Amino acid sequence: MDTSLRTHLDDIFNKCLHCGLCLPTCPTYNIDLREESSPRGRIQLMHAVENKSIPLTKKFVDEIYYCLDCQACETACPAGVRYGELVEAMRNVISESKKDPLFLKIVKIIFMRGILSSPVRTKLFGRILGLYQDSGLRYAVDESGILKIISESLQEKHRLLPRSDRNCFDESVDEIIPVQNCEKRGRVAFLSGCIMNIALTKIHQDAIRVLNLNGYEVVIPKRQVCCGSLHSHNGDLEEAKRLAKINIEVFEQHQFDFLVADSAGCSAFMKEYGKIFADDPDYSQRAKSLSSKVKEITEFLFEVGLTKVPKIYSATVTYHDACHLVHTQKISRQPRELLQNIPGIKLIELPESSWCCGSAGIYNVVRHEDSMKILDRKMENIKSTEAEIVVTANPGCHLQLEYGIEKNGLKMEVLHPVSILSRAYPEILDH
Ligand code: SF4
Ligand code: SF4
Repeated sequence: MDTSLRTHLDDIFNKCLHCGLCLPTCPTYNIDLREESSPRGRIQLMHAVENKSIPLTKKFVDEIYYCLDCQACETACPAGVRYGELVEAMRNVISESKKDPLFLKIVKIIFMRGILSSPVRTKLFGRILGLYQDSGLRYAVDESGILKIISESLQEKHRLLPRSDRNCFDESVDEIIPVQNCEKRGRVAFLSGCIMNIALTKIHQDAIRVLNLNGYEVVIPKRQVCCGSLHSHNGDLEEAKRLAKINIEVFEQHQFDFLVADSAGCSAFMKEYGKIFADDPDYSQRAKSLSSKVKEITEFLFEVGLTKVPKIYSATVTYHDACHLVHTQKISRQPRELLQNIPGIKLIELPESSWCCGSAGIYNVVRHEDSMKILDRKMENIKSTEAEIVVTANPGCHLQLEYGIEKNGLKMEVLHPVSILSRAYPEILDH
């Protein structure tokens, strides 16, 4: 770890007052009430490892990856301790010391570096997944219970695989989508991302439609890549930076007022590009400039206001706050107000709405059992609302909640706020 980073982290460590106000908000602490599984305990452990007063043991690594990096503790902290930065820096140290747990190492090599790092390989993965599900093989494997023979959790992880869409999003749209039949208010760039480019692509289509109907021309640069957030959160800062540099170069070739993303995790990380390149003479200004334009889509729509008035869409909905929206970007009011502005929408507040759902990037794969305990708590709260639709603005939460709904035999739909808005704009508005 270089000296400037160490000084920066020391500053964060020293801010902690050990008051414990973060403890009741921590999902892992609330499972077993162990101090070392709390934010305060982890801060002390990380500080001790960083000072070399305790060694970097397997037990320590396990604790750091038991953390969801949900950043609920940051929201609760009166001293402004930026816990997320600490845990991500420590994961990077663990990774560079080659002490990652074996399964995580495999997921990082095959899934993150092997698939997500390359748009070509991500699309190939999407096509293979599409063939697997369209041929009926996926269903047959699920129903046969064959994976259960190997391990119960393998069967469950298999069910968590996203459903690949028939067409990749970026191949089904033009690079520039002009506004139609309304006055142009501006031009935004749009992040097509990695997984959302092959699965949940309807959310992107709804986002573009809502932006267009509200007067925004949309540019979707073809050469863009994954934002790098999953890499960064899991200790692969080197690869996250490589991807971020490509995006900076690609997006700066286009003119736009804002860069809009409909995934909470991606917008949160792209807002950090300026910070991660702060010491890079070639990229610091360019990264800062791009980050300053990044907007999460509900944040953007709330700020610019809807010029196209939504029609009646009758439904009872509840809203789950994605951690990277509510805790990292402090966005909670905007999506709720957008929903409440739709005539016919009845918003029922979800108890513990800002409590993590257990998805947390690749957490539900690498720490499946812990993730399911956290999901169970979320599902109990969701059930209590008796809503027809659960709304959330992050693909990881979206897939995790769909899985929870299926597992609990519930009849509920999971939708992004822009998908509800799009439904509230009947087809007639397109003409
Ligand atoms: S990031 Fe979340 S899981 Fe990790 S210590 Fe903070 S509250 Fe707990
Ligand atoms: S709330 Fe903040 S200051 Fe208090 S123990 Fe937690 S991290 Fe430290």
